[in-house]
Parts: sequence; C-alpha cells; structure tokens
Amino acid sequence: MNIGLNACESEQLGSKMYHLISELYPICRSITGNGVRQTLHILQQYIPLEIYQVPTGTQVFDWTVPKEWNVRDAYVKNASGKKVIDFQASNLHLLNYSIPIHQTMSLVELKKHLFTLPEYPDWIPYRTSYYNENWGFCLTHNTLQSLEDGEYEVFIDTSLEAGYLTYGEYYLPGEIEDEVLFSCHVCHPSLCNDNLSGIALATFLAKHLSSIPRRYSYRFLFIPGTIGSITWLCLNESKTERIKHGLVISGVGDAGRMTYKKSRRGSAEIDQAVTHVLKHSGEEYAIEEFSPYGYDERQYCSPGFNLPIGRLGRTPFGQYAEYHTSADNLEFIKPGSLIDSMTKYLGVLEILEKNKRYKSTNPKCEPQLGKRGLYGKLGGEQDKKINEMAMLWILNYSDGKHSLLDIADQASIRFHLIHQIVEKLKSANLIEPLGTDDE
Ligand code: ZN
Repeated sequence: MNIGLNACESEQLGSKMYHLISELYPICRSITGNGVRQTLHILQQYIPLEIYQVPTGTQVFDWTVPKEWNVRDAYVKNASGKKVIDFQASNLHLLNYSIPIHQTMSLVELKKHLFTLPEYPDWIPYRTSYYNENWGFCLTHNTLQSLEDGEYEVFIDTSLEAGYLTYGEYYLPGEIEDEVLFSCHVCHPSLCNDNLSGIALATFLAKHLSSIPRRYSYRFLFIPGTIGSITWLCLNESKTERIKHGLVISGVGDAGRMTYKKSRRGSAEIDQAVTHVLKHSGEEYAIEEFSPYGYDERQYCSPGFNLPIGRLGRTPFGQYAEYHTSADNLEFIKPGSLIDSMTKYLGVLEILEKNKRYKSTNPKCEPQLGKRGLYGKLGGEQDKKINEMAMLWILNYSDGKHSLLDIADQASIRFHLIHQIVEKLKSANLIEPLGTDDE
C-alpha cells in the first residue's frame, strides 16, 4: 500500500483544496444555523458525509445546545440613509450571534456596540457573543474614525430560536475497528486559515483514504468548535474506546512552519509519529506540550476522556496578526502550504498504518546476512551503509517489545526506510510480525 502522493497529484491537490476554500469562503457560518448546513452540503459533493442535527436544549455534559442563529441582513445607516456598515459587504461586520434589533440611536450609543482593531486600521475584527445575548458590529478603524456625530439607524435582521446544532461525520471502515479520529471546526464565517484550511484538508484527506486499503478505520468530524466536540463526545461516548490516535486539524494554510501540540498523554503513538515526521522533514518545526487551551483538543483531552489526540497545524492561533481578522483571507493562505501540510498528515498516517512489532527468528547472535544476499546488493555506497545499519537495528530490536517507530527513532533513520528494509527481512524469514495474540 502506498499512502503518499506523487508530484503531479500533489500539485493538483493543492489547487483543489484552495478551490474548495474559495467556494466556502463567502458563507456566513456560526456554531449553528444555515451557514454550517450549506457548508456541509457542499462537502457532500466531495465525500458522502452524514449530517446530524441535535435539537436546541439538548443537555451535553455540563452544556446545553444553544438556540439556532440565522442572519437575513444587517446594516448601519447614517442620517442621509447611506449604509456605513453593511453585512452584505462582509459577514465579519456583524457580531456573530447578534440578537435582532431595529433602532435609531446617537453615535455615542452606537459606539458601545462597535469593535475595531486600532493597530490594523484597514482590517475588520471577527468577534462572537455565543453565550451572552448581545448585538454589535465589527468594522475597520478607519471607517469608525470617519463616522460623524448624528443619528444612526441600526438594523439587524437575525433570528435566535429553537432549532438545531448541525455537524458532519464521515466514517471509513478499515480492516480493524480501531480508529483514527480527525476533527476540524466549521463555525467561522469568512476566515480562511482558521477553519476553512482545516475543512479542506480533512475533506481531501478523507477522499484520498477512501480510495486506498486501510488497516485502521477512520472517522472525520466537521463540527462547530467547543460545543460541537462536547456534543459529539456526549452522544458517542461508547465509541471513544475505539479511538487509538487522532488529530485536530486547524491552521494548515499559512506560510509558517509546522507546529504540533502534543496530546495530554504526551507520549502516545500519535505524539511519537508526528514528532518523527517533523524531525525528518528537514524543515523548521515546533513541538508544544499539551495545555488546556486551544481548539477541540481541549475536549478530547479532558481528563474523563484523555484521548490520544494532538493538534497539527502551521502557525498557532493568536501568533499571527491576521488571526480572527478580515486579513485571514484568500491571499493569506497558499496552495503550496496546504499541500505541504497534507504531505505531513500522510506521512503520519503511513507510520500509523505500518507501525507494528516484529520478532527476530534468530535472536541468538546476528544472523549471517551475507549468505542470504542481504549485504550490499542495492544502491550506491551511501545507500548501502544506511540500509545495512537499518537491517542491524531492526534485527537487534525486533524483540517483540519495540515497534518499528521505536526502532526508527532509536536508530535516527526514517520510518519509511525502516519499513522498506522490514519487507526484505520478512521475505528472508529473518523476522516475523507479532500476531494480535502476542500484542
Ligand atoms: Zn477561531
């Protein structure tokens, strides 16, 4: 089985992911409502995901599924009837989850409900008020400064009513029931790196995996942040035992270096696999310890679940100026970064799929490799040396206790090469895989 992509597939995939992001970009999403439904319906054109609807008021652990929020229109008009802030121009203008209002007021009154970014006067900030009923507008600081004293008409045509929390799920069965979980958030409006990049990567990763043989089963969740993972965990608690590895996908489209945030366990196989891929990428990367702040890993890694789930992305949220602003747009993300992130994800999956333990059939002293034709048959001098080293490491540590990834790490040799050599040693009957009984 070959999990990776060739150069031509890579290039096409980069532009396909970017295209999907462009398609989803204009939609006004939130933690509930038609924007999420519309987004999931578009994803169904790529992968056959199931859409689930959980009614408002449903108790999920310590939380309650909120009222559903939808927007028809919103604007602020000045005294001469000109729209000075218009939701139709950018969905970021409206404070997400604003309650409806239609009222005329002074600029002083209005200003209590306006949010800007003085340090980036051309950018619109992204703000929400999910669990505290409020209304407001976000705008550029330049626009704010151009507003003159006088009366303003504020019109917010939204509904906040009993409805549903909507999420998407795609389950891909494999040879075994043990699962790998991928989770991304789908609750942000026109923001590219923060939410759309993760959605695009998850979609195309799922599509790719569906076309190749799989040892593990895979589950992809497209959920609103926080309340979505809490809801899924509450409704699917019995399935969580099957989750052996997982990643929260977010911020995978910017030009920064890759960053991995470890699972709460800290030394789970997923932590080891991602570290291995980044270490051998030859590029700069960063590894963060777990902390109870961030995206949905907060819920998956809450102590009652403590799932082996980390978060793999590029520049962490809050560490780039464009984060949660109108500058996190289609120019901020790059097809090349998307495909580079995808390549890292596939590298991790290659390890998870192939990482097994073996037992040497000749544990007493080294087997004689020369008579089996295993010495120096292939490649140049450099290749020969590293292949021989890999053979010696595998034969010595195939004691049933060390996984191939353990051996690759100990030998500082790429997992990919270790696995290739394993295939040769297997053919020569020098090692044998551990049966499930031995594990
Ligand atoms: Zn965000």
